[in-house]
Amino acid sequence: MRVLVTGGAGFIGSAVVRHLVLDKDYEVLNVDKLTYAGTQTSLNAIGNRPGYRFLKADICDRSAISEALLSFRPDRIMHLAAESHVDRSITGARDFVETNVMGTFNMLECARHYWMELEAESKAAFRFLHVSTDEVYGSLGADGLFEETTPYDPSSPYSASKAASDHLAKAWERTYGLPVVVSNCSNNYGPYHFPEKLIPLTILNAMEGKPLPVYGNGANIRDWLYVEDHARALDLIAERGRVGETYNVGGRNERRNIDVVTRICELMDALAPKPVSHASLITYVADRPGHDARYAIDATKLETELGWRAQENFDTGIEKTVRWYLENEWWWQPLRQGYSGDRLGLLNSDK
Ligand code: NAD
Repeated sequence: MRVLVTGGAGFIGSAVVRHLVLDKDYEVLNVDKLTYAGTQTSLNAIGNRPGYRFLKADICDRSAISEALLSFRPDRIMHLAAESHVDRSITGARDFVETNVMGTFNMLECARHYWMELEAESKAAFRFLHVSTDEVYGSLGADGLFEETTPYDPSSPYSASKAASDHLAKAWERTYGLPVVVSNCSNNYGPYHFPEKLIPLTILNAMEGKPLPVYGNGANIRDWLYVEDHARALDLIAERGRVGETYNVGGRNERRNIDVVTRICELMDALAPKPVSHASLITYVADRPGHDARYAIDATKLETELGWRAQENFDTGIEKTVRWYLENEWWWQPLRQGYSGDRLGLLNSDK
């Protein structure tokens, strides 16, 4: 099995690449531009495995992507490359439109031309998995869950750009017959998560005795999924998902942001004690504009149709994650130092 993964140097993409190469023994070509969010150190575990190749390229670059397809000849594309940080999309949306919308358009077009030339058997077996977010559905009230049929209603420039890319992916299936499957997942957490995101930022600021910023009153709810559970789900959806269908992915782990931050503080008190409790560092900051109140996923379709189950619950997953950051300073320290934003410690993202 040959899989072309885009964005494989990012948080979720690297978990996907590690799973495909190390657990499944697949051949993988990782296509990544290595933006500030991408680092090949997340793939150190792969070592010199012969099945793994890396190409530094922009998904908007038509000739680079076409050439990669023609030389690697994948059976499957798993498209994860994106600009992913909601706060950055609010202060500068252009990169989000270029990469998430135009980049996805380019991936679909290059894939279509490659796929059209395949022989009948390979053509029928080919899959393009477009990886997306539950944020495209907008915000929930106190009740209800996002289903695959929930209408799109994105709030941020990030989620609007992802929604646009989902529509393009579905249109390429309906119009051209490209075998596309779409997945929409809730918030991921786990090892190798870039230090600007809520959970790693909280752990690292707590470690350094810095303020732990929480938006608004901290009551916003997210549905957390351990990243390795997402990677397994994506492999399964690419393998057995029905063409033209959407699959929601979520861990049934709804938590208020303040409860997530408080739990990290408790773990830090136990694992890396300080003279004062870490919770005393919690600092409420002005709410994010357009901040969605609640996300929660109904993953019944994925569970019943494809037999997927999240293996990690939030209590064990968050403890593993805190321990991982405590033990892997070699990974996060260069990223935290090299990170150009002056927002570290001031703003965070729920993603
Ligand atoms: P990330 O920001 O950690 O990684 C993105 C990767 O894409 C990086 O390695 C970056 O270098 C690469 N990239 C960015 N622009 C590129 C371009 N123009 N060309 C080539 N490579 C480029 O993101 P993530 O959190 O791993 O998210 C991966 C995918 O999953 C995204 O499509 C995101 O929308 C989706 N998603 C994320 C979450 C989450 O909680 N993080 C949840 C659901 C869905």
